[in-house]
Formats: sequence, structure tokens, C-alpha cells
Amino acid sequence: MIKDYVDGKWVPSFGKDSVSIVNPATGVEIDRCPMGTSEDVNRAVKAAHAAFLEWRHVPVAERIQFLFKLKPLLDANVEQLASLVTREHGKTLVEARGSVKRGIQMVETATGMPTFQKGEFLEDIARGIDCVTMRQPMGVFAGIAPFNFPAMVPFWFWPFAIASGNTFVLKPSERVPLTHQLIFDLIEKTGLPKGVMNLVHGGKEVVTALCTHPDVKGTCFVGSTPVAKYVYETSAKHGKRSQALGGAKNFMVMLPDAVMDKSCATALESIIGCAGERCLAGSVILCVGDETYTQVKERMVRSAADVSVGDGMDPRVQMGPVISQESKDRILGLIKSAVDDDGAKLLVDGRIGVDQMPGYFLKPSVIADVTEKMRVSQEEIFGPVVLLAKVKTLDEAIAWINRSNLANTTTLFTQSGPAARKFSSEVAPAMIGINIGVPAPMSFFSFGGSRDSFFGDIKAHGANSVQFFTDEKIITQRWVSDSNVW
Ligand code: NAD
Repeated sequence: MIKDYVDGKWVPSFGKDSVSIVNPATGVEIDRCPMGTSEDVNRAVKAAHAAFLEWRHVPVAERIQFLFKLKPLLDANVEQLASLVTREHGKTLVEARGSVKRGIQMVETATGMPTFQKGEFLEDIARGIDCVTMRQPMGVFAGIAPFNFPAMVPFWFWPFAIASGNTFVLKPSERVPLTHQLIFDLIEKTGLPKGVMNLVHGGKEVVTALCTHPDVKGTCFVGSTPVAKYVYETSAKHGKRSQALGGAKNFMVMLPDAVMDKSCATALESIIGCAGERCLAGSVILCVGDETYTQVKERMVRSAADVSVGDGMDPRVQMGPVISQESKDRILGLIKSAVDDDGAKLLVDGRIGVDQMPGYFLKPSVIADVTEKMRVSQEEIFGPVVLLAKVKTLDEAIAWINRSNLANTTTLFTQSGPAARKFSSEVAPAMIGINIGVPAPMSFFSFGGSRDSFFGDIKAHGANSVQFFTDEKIITQRWVSDSNVW
């Protein structure tokens, strides 16, 4: 049974229940994760709050030294972290390594805090009066993470939170809690003062306790839309700020002038990479015109059938399993609804050839003649399913995209600058790719979708996240004296 990390020590959870942590490539249990209680949250928040009273006075240039110490430790452990990600999540080692490196980039960017956290000064806002602003840390922040990026997603928040002088309580997904166990071992090696970083395991009870605890100042959430909404609303009701990133339904538009081979390869990788378990994964390819539709269909059928599926630890494998049997069943249900109930055409059947494999495998499926009202066009699939639809014009594609509420990201494939400009300006999703299948901004930019894919006003990471983790004080000052002793 894995442990919590509180006040600089590994401690057993108060929770009596636990869930299995399973390697999805084998279906075999690796370890067990305790389902913590509000008592665990109280213990961790108490430690984090006590640590904050000291940590907030540590100069920012000293605070970031712990991140500078952590960076080489993370670099030296990339392979170990990547294989942990592959074992508990299932994605291939190449994908896992990439996600660990994206996490490390967050640590690098957060070392810029002395610049990000600077305030402003204006002399003589009125005669003899100056105005100063400063950004102060607020206290304890909580992070709640999803299963699909065990190494990367928590890094979107905590390095920025602690570099700006706050303390942190992280709750990883109970399905993939092992990667951050190792990361906490590495954090401990930096000598970070106890209580600054804490780890609590569990599910809904822990999440609710974090969103309602009076000493938690803000919550950072990533996961499905219903839970994002719950976290955002519960946090707000309890006087906290919150940034809650939710689910996605991502559309890709193929224009007739797209560089067809490259664009189709990019689109396929977007849809099936990480077995489709990415919030930026493409889902429906809207092909503009009959000829584009035919060309995309041919290429998708050819390439999807060639993808090698298996245990992500095997370097020859291009796609790993999905996370669980429950997830696999949900995806199978969506394929069935499209084909059996809604009359879409199954061109490549990813259900074939996986029965004898251990774990939770699916091969890529390609489904054509998809229309907007079908269930499969509306719901997030989070699995390796390519959906093909035909539209007449770019305007029609944009209108379709803008009727969807899960507006995380969208991509346009084209060689036309004016088309790209129009698309970027008119589509609702906040993260846009032009000839990019997974338009993931880097650590030094912000990250977050729109509508039901993002609840809040300040997006994750990048320089702007300092606004989320600090409160601004505005000091208007006049210094008067009745003597001129100086
Ligand atoms: P999830 O919502 O089931 O779980 C996320 C977290 O919430 C976990 O830590 C879990 O323990 C907790 N949780 C689950 N049910 C809860 C409940 N009823 N009340 C309170 N807490 C609860 O999400 P998941 O299945 O782990 O992750 C997949 C989802 O995350 C997908 O929808 C995906 O699009 C989304 N996601 C979004 C982004 C983004 O940037 N927008 C990034 C990654 C993943």
C-alpha cells in the first residue's frame, strides 16, 4: 500500500479502503492506493499552512534554488519516471518520456518567478503621491490530477505555486499515483522545507475536503467536465479561487489544399497517440469537399490498420492499451452506437484481434459517414477512434465546431494563410493548431480550453499563472515631513 507524504514524512493514510493500481498492459495489480479521508486532508493542510507561515518569507531567489536542485535530479531519473508512467498508465515509453520532459520544463519555467512576481511602481500618480503594487503568496493551494498524464499534469501547477511562496497539497489520480511517489522522493532530496509539498491519496472524499477546507486558498483541477464543474463550484462556494480544466471533443478540419500525406499522418497521430487518452487528441476530422473526404478516408484506412499495438515497454509498439476495462467497455459502446444505432460506416474495426491480448487493448478504428447528431460526435471518446465527416465549406466546419461545448482545442490543415487566420479568429476552442495535431502550448505559455473545457479565468502555467497563485496589493503612498533634516 502506498503512503501519503505530509510534513516531510511518508505516513500511512487514515483511509481504510483502497483501490488497485493495475498495469493496463497486463491487467495485473502493481500496488494499492489508499482512499484517503477528510482526516488525511486536515493533517496535510495543517502541515502546509504551518509551513506557509515560514516559506512566504523565504526570498524568491532562495525559493527557486530548490527547483534548480530538483531539475538535475529529474533529468537523471527520466528513464525511471518514464517506465513508471508506462507501467501504471500504459502509454509507450517514447510517449511517457516526452510527458516527463514536458513536466521538467514546468520546473525550468517556474524558476523565472523572480521576474514573474515583480510588481509595478508609478511615481507621482498625484502630486507627491506614488503607487506600488506587489504580488503576495496566499497560503495553501491544492492540486487534483487526472489519470492520463501522471508525470506531467501535476507539474502544471505546483512548481509555480511554491516558487511564488505558497505551499501545496497534491492529490494524484488514484489510478496512477506511483509516478509522483518517486517525484516526491526527489523533492525530498532537494532539502525543501517540510510541509511545503504534501501528497494525499484518495478520491471524491479527499477532493471535497480540499475544496471546502478553510485553509485552502485555491484549487487547481484537471479531469472530466462534470468533476471540473463540481470542483470549481464547490471551491467558489467556499471562498476559494479555482482553475478547473475539463474534458474535450476536438475537431480537425482538412481543407482541399492541405499537404495530404503529412496532414493525414499528423491527424492520425493526434487521434491515436497515447491510445487517444489526451485532452488534446483529435476526434472528428471534418473534410471539406468530396475529393478531400475520399483522400483522407483512403489514407486513414491504410495507416490505421498498420499501427502496432502492445505493451508500451516494447520499443516496437506504437500504441499501448487504454487505462481500464471500464474505459474499454465505454469506447466499445460508443463504436457500437455509431455503427449499429446511427448508421455510420466502420472502415477499420479496432475490436478485432485484441481478445487474446492481456490487459485493456483496442486497435485503432476508423468510422466514416459520421454526422453531427450522432452520440459519437458529441461525447468525448478518450480512445483510438478516427471519425470522418464531410462538410461543404470551411464556414460549415467552423459552425459545427462552434456548436460543441467541449471546446478544448481544434486544428486546421491548410496551406492558406487567410483560411488559417479566419479559422483562428472564429472558432470557439481556445487552443488552436494550424497544421499541428496536438497544439500543446509549452510551459512558458498558458494552457486551457474554453466553454465546458475550462472553468475559471486564469489558465494553467506560463507567466500568467502568477496571477492565480498570488494576490495583488496596491499601496498608495505619500511621505510627508515637517523638517528638512536630510
Ligand atoms: P476524472 O474527472 O474521473 O478524475 C480526475 C480527478 O478527479 C481524479 O483525481 C479523481 O480522483 C477525482 N474525481 C473523480 N471523480 C470524482 C468525483 N465524483 N468527485 C470528486 N473528485 C472526483 O478524470 P480522469 O478520468 O482521471 O481523466 C480523464 C479526463 O480528464 C478526460 O475528460 C480528459 O479530457 C480530461 N483532461 C483534461 C485536460 C485539460 O487540459 N483540459 C488534461 C488532461 C485530462
